[in-house]
Amino acid sequence: MVRKVEAAVIGAGPGGYVAALRLGQLDVQTVLVERDRLGGECLNYGCIPSKALISTGNAVHRIQNMEKMGVTLKGLKVDAQKLQEWKQSVVDRLTNGVATLCKAAGVEVVYGTAAFTGPHTLEVTTKEGKTTIEASSIIIATGSEPIPLKGFDVDGERVIYPKQALELTNIPKSLTIIGGGITGLEIGTAYAKLGTKVVVVELLDQLIPGLSLDLVRVIERTLKRLGIEYYVRGKALGVERTEDGVVLAVETPKERFEIVSDILLVSVGRRPSSGSLGLDKAGIELDKEGFVKVDRTMQTNVEGVYAIGDVTGIPYLAHKASKEGVVAAEAIAGLPSEADYRAMPAAIFTDPEIATVGLSEEEAKEQGIEVTVGKFHFRASGRALTHDDLEGFVKVIGDKESHEVLGVQIVGPEASDLISEASLAIEMGATVEDIGLTVHPHPTLSEAVMEAADDVLGRSIHLPKK
Ligand code: FAD
Repeated sequence: MVRKVEAAVIGAGPGGYVAALRLGQLDVQTVLVERDRLGGECLNYGCIPSKALISTGNAVHRIQNMEKMGVTLKGLKVDAQKLQEWKQSVVDRLTNGVATLCKAAGVEVVYGTAAFTGPHTLEVTTKEGKTTIEASSIIIATGSEPIPLKGFDVDGERVIYPKQALELTNIPKSLTIIGGGITGLEIGTAYAKLGTKVVVVELLDQLIPGLSLDLVRVIERTLKRLGIEYYVRGKALGVERTEDGVVLAVETPKERFEIVSDILLVSVGRRPSSGSLGLDKAGIELDKEGFVKVDRTMQTNVEGVYAIGDVTGIPYLAHKASKEGVVAAEAIAGLPSEADYRAMPAAIFTDPEIATVGLSEEEAKEQGIEVTVGKFHFRASGRALTHDDLEGFVKVIGDKESHEVLGVQIVGPEASDLISEASLAIEMGATVEDIGLTVHPHPTLSEAVMEAADDVLGRSIHLPKK
């Protein structure tokens, strides 16, 4: 039997489900096909579970370090099983919410695995059998999957991927992580705060490769304080499974050594999840890294076929996938919509958090833009002091001539929330004066954004006169 619909979306992650909901709002008849769970990687195995674990780690760490505020608590315990149950309840609440919204928007959800049999036809394999869906418009939103590391077979118990690291029902005594990128450091920091001895091995010459070094330096200090050992330019050579753990052989330019731990987490990046989609049958072009090629309306080289989210390339961010989902849905409905990445923020939930938007100082210079930079450290913020959270700074990068805000980088408490003001500034083409002229409530961490913007002009009130 062939089902004919106006639009079909493959994958119900933050890209696909958002696209389907926007199509529903725009009265486009839509089928959303998902092979696993509504919410995709982000809600089920990524963003939300990792942030639940990080929040728990932060709470435990905070309580353990409040003695100077006069707070002590003896006998603090973490019940990992209960933590998992709570985490799952958060995930379920959100994924049930997606189901309710789909129903309200008139989006039909089909549980099954989709593959192209032609440019506008999908074969969907469900529990009940195979069906064919013919759609005028199709959105590919199949996300990404972990990159396997040759020689490090993941068994899900001793050698694991991030998804399994977020599902442990025992807090491991020790954890070694291959990969000092965002995911490895977020999970490593959370477990270190819950009492695990953590070692990180990164192949490249800095943690979170690609990020400005002054931001990374702040994180390095916290990692050390938390007792996390890390090695850059460290090559994982091989793993040996023992009766009660793993032994990882590592080589750095200086030495060769072994790390013994309960569990080894392999977190070396992700690749597009498109292998079994039959894209060749639809004639859809990929780039040389295997990402689906799209234009600014998220349309592929095949008319009426769109792609969004992780499957189209880096950065892997849920809100990028969602934004692209809205753009693709609106383009399908005939609205003038285009993706614009100028004000796309990124948040990293390490300790302290890191958040960036727009251009870094290095990127602006590479593009030949003359910049002027302001910086304000949280140690000069009254609110940061009352939080006892003094690490980090806000850095505002402005165009030297026009003073337009080009980028903002924050490393410090609540950076992931503070960055939105900067995104709005960039989105609206604001100048550093606009941020400086905006009265910020006192005492708040957001005052640091205002002071950093004022510092671009050499007039931050709470910095010594230059
Ligand atoms: P996905 O969320 O991967 O969804 C794709 C969906 O497609 C899946 O449900 C899959 O089952 C389905 N699918 C695939 N193939 C088929 C098929 N053939 N038929 C039917 N269904 C199919 N991003 C952030 O912005 N903030 C964070 O804090 C954050 N934390 C993260 C933490 C971890 C541990 C990980 C792994 C990722 C994190 N990310 C975070 C990244 C974020 O999860 C992704 O960028 C986001 O999920 C991408 O959304 P998507 O819709 O493109 O794909």
